[in-house]
Amino acid sequence: MGGHKIDAEAANTTENVEIKLQKKQKNKQKRKPEETAAEIGTEYANVVNKKKNKEKQEVAEVLNGSVEISATKKKKQEKEETFNDGSTEIPKKKKKKDKGGENESANNGIIETARKLEKCSGVGSENASEEIRHGSGVVVSGKNVNDSKYATLNSFSESRLPSEVLECCKNFNKPSPIQSHSWPFLLDGRDFIGIAATGSGKTLAFGIPAIMSVLSKRKSKIAVRKNPLCLVLSPTRELAQQISDVLCDAGRPCGVQSVCIYGGTSKGPQISALKSGVDIVIGTPGRLKDLIEMGLCHLKDVSYVVLDEADRMLDMGFEPEVRSILSQTCTVRQMVMFSATWPLPVHQLAQEFMDPSPVKVVVGSEDLAANHDVLQIVEVLEDRARDERLQNLLEKYHKSRSNRVLVFVLYKKEASRVENMLQKRGWKVVSISGDKAQHARTQALSLFKEGSCPLLIATDVAARGLDIPDVEVVINYSFPLTTEDYVHRIGRTGRAGKKGVAHTFFTKENKGLAGELVNVLREAKQVVPEALLKFGTHVKKKESKLYGAHFKEIASNAPKATKIKFDDSEDED
Ligand code: AMP
Repeated sequence: MGGHKIDAEAANTTENVEIKLQKKQKNKQKRKPEETAAEIGTEYANVVNKKKNKEKQEVAEVLNGSVEISATKKKKQEKEETFNDGSTEIPKKKKKKDKGGENESANNGIIETARKLEKCSGVGSENASEEIRHGSGVVVSGKNVNDSKYATLNSFSESRLPSEVLECCKNFNKPSPIQSHSWPFLLDGRDFIGIAATGSGKTLAFGIPAIMSVLSKRKSKIAVRKNPLCLVLSPTRELAQQISDVLCDAGRPCGVQSVCIYGGTSKGPQISALKSGVDIVIGTPGRLKDLIEMGLCHLKDVSYVVLDEADRMLDMGFEPEVRSILSQTCTVRQMVMFSATWPLPVHQLAQEFMDPSPVKVVVGSEDLAANHDVLQIVEVLEDRARDERLQNLLEKYHKSRSNRVLVFVLYKKEASRVENMLQKRGWKVVSISGDKAQHARTQALSLFKEGSCPLLIATDVAARGLDIPDVEVVINYSFPLTTEDYVHRIGRTGRAGKKGVAHTFFTKENKGLAGELVNVLREAKQVVPEALLKFGTHVKKKESKLYGAHFKEIASNAPKATKIKFDDSEDED
């Protein structure tokens, strides 16, 4: 899918639809929300279908040899062939076209990132019509990305989405960078790769187009309502539930239903929901595969698929399940992949399941530099001194016993031990780890989220993907196994423009990661303790998939990472 060529006729149709949409927006108060949204969805579907049919017809004609390729097309093809040498160089001409002048220097690093991405991705890089544009800390690359129909959205109204669909955004001032760059492509049916971390607004970035896709198919009767039409795969149960919460809320005003399919909990309610018919399935790979094999979940009508946290999914060993699940979906489908990083297995998966020229949007940097809003304190200490020190830190950081503090440990057993130790010392604390039954995990997380138990002990299962508001302090009781996990962990604080504190215990057992940690601290202009430097600053190549490749010594005067902000008014720079 993707790569649709808009011909004059289809463009015309788009214009007509836009005029109609404006008229309908005026009249919509008189009608039921479901009606308006579904109707607009139908027109969206008609335009997309018309474009697709036209494209299919063209392909069929060329395959049958029944048409002469036009002179212009021939010229274009020849041009493409000339450059079709596997070159990954971004054409200089395109670079000059860029309008993000004021962000030029800040964006240079991001362009480099995009170039690296181009080089390593292999997806679409062979195409001479690859274009690139950048601005506000975002790099967009892919075929025809500079086409005016893909212009970045500066406001929700520019998206021309029905108000019922935008209801979930009513408290937001404007689309976040990932939303404003992704919606034009996703609503046009393009395959899409988003390199963006949680916290960037990515759930609605793929969620709103998912809802529009359901509305369009439902009304145009492409599928019988019974079977799901969209699928979102998530690596962890907690992330799946979080996505499901967002999509349930967003879909409610327009009658789009979602179900969350995840393990560790009873299958009954999930099976009933599937039987009664849902539009969007959000699932973890294991349970979903089980239900498919039991003949209870049918994905043949799914034509909009999202792989969220694709890197994490493969890290967790879900590749066979992911492949098997994808093979059950409709062959003509729109694929959307979100990943915080872009390692080899992820782009191999993209190559296999995506259009050869997907759009790539990189928000910020794939290098995963630490959030500069987080004050990082690293304390080198003896392993056995940690319990006492944790007690002291909680007296300091959690004095009010009402602010949210998240303590990370490494192992499941460690989570229970630290939880018990703190409970014995009188702290009200809950823990979340893979050892706990799913209902206990869910309960602990909601107690922490709603604030009735604002002290949480967590293993790395909670480090990525979760959007927990207002975590003031992160304490790393045990240092994680990789520096990228460290960056993810401390990213649980300092969110939405707020400042946060990350206090980390570092023991001699962790010395192999000292060099990488020093680099992270330096990049964020944080204090590097002498005791940490004593472990040496050597960074082993390939030590970590991410930092092994990218992290050389970073000078303390290196340019600051570009910060992504939702709202200009919050811009402090
Ligand atoms: P996500 O990356 O999807 O986990 O979203 C992170 C947080 O950003 C969530 O709390 C969302 O409610 C919030 N959010 C999503 N879109 C926007 C937006 N356009 N403006 C401000 N906040 C947003």
